[in-house]
Amino acid sequence: MATDPGSTRSAERAGPIAGAVAVSAAAQRPHIALAHIEKVYGSEHGAVTALQDINLSVGRSEFISIIGPSGSGKSTLLMIVAGLVGATAGSVVIADRPVAAPVTDVGIVFQQDLLFDWRTVLGNVLLPAEIRGLDKAAARTKAMTLLARVGLEGFEHRRPWELSGGMRQRAALCRALLHDASILLLDEPFGALDALTRDQMNLDLQELWLTDRPTAILVTHSISEAVFLSDRVIVLSARPGRIATEVRIDLARPRSIDVRDSAAFVAYQHALRLAIGHP
Ligand code: ADP
Ligand code: MG
Repeated sequence: MATDPGSTRSAERAGPIAGAVAVSAAAQRPHIALAHIEKVYGSEHGAVTALQDINLSVGRSEFISIIGPSGSGKSTLLMIVAGLVGATAGSVVIADRPVAAPVTDVGIVFQQDLLFDWRTVLGNVLLPAEIRGLDKAAARTKAMTLLARVGLEGFEHRRPWELSGGMRQRAALCRALLHDASILLLDEPFGALDALTRDQMNLDLQELWLTDRPTAILVTHSISEAVFLSDRVIVLSARPGRIATEVRIDLARPRSIDVRDSAAFVAYQHALRLAIGHP
């Protein structure tokens, strides 16, 4: 058999390293693994294929963003990960277990904060603990810590309608983090906020994420927000949503708002704008 010098070299190299690679691969098995996901919605006007052949693995404590045109299935994808919408085909595996029902080990934040106006801010944040029957005192301590960390100290006993949009979304974020879920799903959480508030929310979210390190999936329309927060940005094509490309973001953390002026950040944004088809 003719020997290819290249393959001989790589075989030799694999020898001593192979064991170490196997160990680290086991340690880094994906936290969330989507394989060949397809979603078809039935409607009176016929079937709509929202997602097609989505293959995506998210590592434990990784932060990824999903961007793509309206209707490309971004929200559907999050709901499938949460087990709230069933896929038409394909598999969802979380921590090595197939998902067949709503996932409890998850916190979700939507664009609309969905706070209950008849409950106080603290009462809203404590809701997941009540639903899950968690220890009341421990939950209260955690809630107060989270609220303080996002600058809502002193607002615990206010009603949501007394707060600004940014403050409401901070409370919704605290509620999603209350039960120490290992997965955080965010569906355009800051889409309705003004630019300055949004910058501050990005910093707050980064800090909260760095503290507890949940595996996070953020859906956003903002390329800059996606780059700022993520380890990886996934671009979906127009409907039916398929993964068009992904860009790994190699910027040290914590990231300051000024990082957006760096050459590397601008280059990531440019690459993503091209991928999404913006001029
Ligand atoms: P995105 O969040 O990217 O805007 P969605 O996941 O909300 O996209 O929707 C993807 C496609 O699936 C859209 O065409 C939408 O109209 C359709 N769709 C979403 N939810 C339903 C539903 N419950 N029934 C029928 N069609 C739906
Ligand atoms: Mg959506």
